[in-house]
Formats: sequence, C-alpha cells, structure tokens
Amino acid sequence: MAENGAMASNFVQNAIEEDLRNGKYTEGIHTRFPPEPNGYLHVGHAKSICLNFGLAEKNAGLCNLRFDDTNPTKEDVEYVDSIQEDIRWLGFSWGDRKFYASDYFEKLYEFAVQLIEKGLAYVDDLSADEIRAYRGTLTEPGRESPCRNRSKEESLELFRRMREGEFEDGAHVLRAKIDMASPNINMRDPVIYRIAHTKHHRTGDAWCIYPMYDFAHPLSDAIEGITHSVCTLEFEAHRPFYDWLLESLGFDVNTRPRQIEFARLELTNTITSKRKLRQLVEEGHVRGWDDPRMPTISGLRRRGYTPASIRDFCERIGVAKSNSLVDVAMLEHCVREDLNEHADRVMAVLRPLKVVLTNYPEGKTEYLQADNNPMHGGTRFVPFSREIFIEQEDFMEEAPKKFFRLKPGGEVRLKHAYIIKCEEVIKDETGRVCELHCSIDPDSKTGGATANRKIKGTIHWVDAKQALNAEVRLYDYLLTTDENGNLPEDFIASLNPDSLIVLKDAKVEPSLKWTAAGTHYQFLRDGYFVVDPDTTPEHLVFNRVVGLRDSWSKEQKKG
Ligand code: ATP
Ligand code: MG
Repeated sequence: MAENGAMASNFVQNAIEEDLRNGKYTEGIHTRFPPEPNGYLHVGHAKSICLNFGLAEKNAGLCNLRFDDTNPTKEDVEYVDSIQEDIRWLGFSWGDRKFYASDYFEKLYEFAVQLIEKGLAYVDDLSADEIRAYRGTLTEPGRESPCRNRSKEESLELFRRMREGEFEDGAHVLRAKIDMASPNINMRDPVIYRIAHTKHHRTGDAWCIYPMYDFAHPLSDAIEGITHSVCTLEFEAHRPFYDWLLESLGFDVNTRPRQIEFARLELTNTITSKRKLRQLVEEGHVRGWDDPRMPTISGLRRRGYTPASIRDFCERIGVAKSNSLVDVAMLEHCVREDLNEHADRVMAVLRPLKVVLTNYPEGKTEYLQADNNPMHGGTRFVPFSREIFIEQEDFMEEAPKKFFRLKPGGEVRLKHAYIIKCEEVIKDETGRVCELHCSIDPDSKTGGATANRKIKGTIHWVDAKQALNAEVRLYDYLLTTDENGNLPEDFIASLNPDSLIVLKDAKVEPSLKWTAAGTHYQFLRDGYFVVDPDTTPEHLVFNRVVGLRDSWSKEQKKG
C-alpha cells in the first residue's frame, strides 16, 4: 500500500517537476483543495483530496483547504463542518491554512475595480436572457452589448452603486471586456459580478454583489500563493480566462498559479454529483448524507470503508487526462484487502435456525478456542452448549448432491467445534423447518480421536444460550444500472427497492458484547461488517461493508 497520500508519479507531478526545472516557483509548491460548501463530499472529491494533498506531500509543499463560498443561496455551515471532518478522517491536514473565498470579498472587489480602471471590465445593463442571446454560439460570434463602450468613470460609479445596494437583483452585472468573437465562449465578456440580495453564511448582509466562480477562483489561488491549481477537466475551456485574468492584473508568470486539469472520477453504479445526492437526501430516498448506501465520504465511513482503503483506491486509479469509468468493484476490492488484514474473524448467524444437540449434556458449557485473524494470531474463547444457532441456508431438506452443508442424515463440521449429524427435522404448523435435532461426535473437536475425520462441509454457528441479538443491515447498490454499470437518465425511477435489507433477529457470539461503533469484523463465510453508530450494548447494529467474494480481482486474474 502507498504511503499516506504520496501519489505515484503522474502527469501533474511531471508538470510540477518541469516547472521546477525551469526555475519557476522557487518558494515551493503549493496546492489547494477548493470545495464549494453546498453538499457533502463524495468519493470523487476523495480523489481530488488525495491528489492535492499528495502532491504537496510529495514535493515538500503545502496544501490549503479553501471553501469556494461565492454562491450564498446554496451554501451552509453544515457542509463546511462535514467537509473538514471528512478530510481529517481521510488522513490529511491543512494545518492552519483554512481559507474562505468570502474572506477575500474586499480584495476581489478591488481587483474588479482595477480591471474597470484598465478598461478591461464594464457594467452591463442587459438582462441574463439578453446576455445569453448576445453571446452567440459555437459557430457564430457573439454581439457586443450596447454598454460595452460606456466610460470607465460610468462603470466605476455604477459598480460602486451596485455594491451600495441601489439596484435590484439582475439590474446590472460586471463583465470582463475581452472578445465577443472569441472561438472560446468563456472569453466572450464573461460576467464576473452579479447582484444578489442574499445573506451569506459567513459575511451575512455585508455584501449584495457576489463574484462569479471563474473570477473568484483564480484570484483566490493567486492571493494564497497557490502554484498549481489542479482541477477537473470541465474547467479546461475556462483556463484561457484564468490566465487572462491573472495576466491582466499583473501577476508574474513565474510565480502565479498554473491551472492543470485531470479527469474526474466516475464509478460504475455510483452517483458522483452533489446535486443528485442532495436530491436523494432531500426527497427522503435515503436516511441522510451518511446513509451507508451513499457514495459520500460520510456514507462510506458509516458503511465501514476505512481511510486507508479509500486512499489506496485513489492511488490505484491514478490520474489521467481523459475521462473514464472505473469499476466500483475495485473500490470494494480495496476495502476487502484492508479488512482482510485488520478485521478479526467472528461468528454471526444472520438468519438463525435452532439446533438441539441431543447427546450433549444439558447445563454444560465448554469454551472453545477460536483464532481471531490468521495474519496477526490471537485467540478468544467461544461458548458451546446443547443448543446452538446455524444459518437457515446451511440446511436443506431436499439437498442436491453437491450440497455439502447439513441435510437429513448428513454430517457437517462446526467451525472450532464438533462434527454433528442431522437426526431429526422439526417443522411448525405451516411446514416450515423450525428446529433440527442433531447428535455430536464427542471425539471430533480439536485434539480428539476423530478430529481429522474427513467431512466435506464446515459451517459457522453461535451458542444459543449466550448469543447476543443483533440487527444486521445488508446493502446493495442504490440504483439499478445497465449491464455496463452506467446510470440511467431518470435516476429516481431507477432506485433499487432492495438496496437495504434489515435482518432483526441475527445472533452474534458474546465476544462482541462491548464492541464500539466503527469496529470491523469478518463474519465467517459472510463478509466484512462494521458496528453502526446506532448500536448500544442492548441492541447491536452491524452494517455489511462488502461480501467476501471478490469479483474484481477474479476479473483481473482472468484478464
Ligand atoms: P459536483 O459536480 O458533485 O457538485 P463539484 O465539482 O461542483 O462537484 P466542488 O465542491 O466544486 O464540487 O469540488 C471541489 C473539488 O473537487 C474541485 O476541484 C473539483 O474539481 C473536485 N471534484 C469534484 N468532483 C470530482 C470527481 N468526481 N473526481 C475528481 N475530482 C472531483
Ligand atoms: Mg464545482
């Protein structure tokens, strides 16, 4: 596994090294992670976090956390808090460098004034619709606004009055003055300030004009001394404006930030759009942002993903220049690998069937030794007495030949315990199997005379007297997708009705009595589980992280 965040070489790292060779950025490398606090972070953001913090680490540089909070209508402190928690949980630190674009509102305003003074920005009176209509298309140049050539003095005065709150929302905007015929639509006099009489979660009512993202972002980077502004591919066409803005305001090309784009992470079966995730939460399709089915970092955490597994995943997928879809099975593979190494093995029965061991003395309890994890050693004792639970699916009355678990007259080995034989099947009034009567081979436990007798199947079990009741939550993908894992257009209509299955009568071995939320286990033969925060000593709750079967690594081997 890779070191914490230290990304293997990639094209962004190569670009940094080239800059350093060319004598740029002599003060050191400085990146940033710039979330907009309008939702919880998701697995795609994890990639960006690992990349930005990883680049800083690799180059002995720094990485800032900056909230890009320029759109007050959608932003909230709840998101600001969750984002910090998620980054820390992933294992990264911004030190004392937490910033907000809103901290720069005064400076940004001054930069805008400078642009007007240089004749590079003007106040426009066109409405949003008119601006759109004037903008032209990919094949046709745009038209100039009648306000484009108004005097600097007039624009300065109008811009000041915009700030003073003299105008309604939408009455004016400030636009950069670049080129209405540019083949790049982002260069056709983009809007850089708008009027919005909206309270901001940090600046309150201090402002009624807000900078546009494309204006605020490059300047925030420059103010913080960012050297490499790493962002996703959709910003490629915005880079000319990024450079134009910094050039126009006189930032030195050898020290000012450079934007580099990489491909965003898209995963099969997985929504990576904050807007859609918010819709799932707001419409109540999931329990919240941290629902274990959500691809949010908080959802992955509650589901039982570990920070190491997510960092490992981000390392393995690498950083590319073109978009591609990653198989979610690879993420599952990473957590399986981590938990295989770190989680203790225990026995839990999800859908219990009672077994009475008719030749085992009543009132007797033995404590049998069981190993915790073959990689680390360690053992514990599990109780065994006359009544136990096994999985319903480990018994079949009319079993096919290849069924090597329990069947009438058949034998099976109980993990860490005896060989048992099914003598009698007890059914309720409806004909459902409700209990088995079995005999044990008393010499078949470890060290006994028949301990090595050849038996095809081994099953897990828990002692009925001392078993703890547990609620177990099993998860499937939130959405049903096409065979390639692509998401359907109407994702609400494609919600998988079986994405959550709750088993209320599970039984787990008593060693789990004092377990705490966040602890991982392998339930033998079943998968990896984590203790949910809903758990109490009286009511244990487990989430299944992943099953044991690894489709991804199998595919790789077939490959
Ligand atoms: P969304 O489209 O989900 O709302 P966003 O890009 O608007 O995401 P931001 O808060 O602006 O969300 O993202 C912060 C940083 O994370 C940005 O630099 C963005 O490029 C990056 N990022 C967002 N989604 C992904 C993704 N799927 N893969 C990699 N990086 C991403
Ligand atoms: Mg964004």
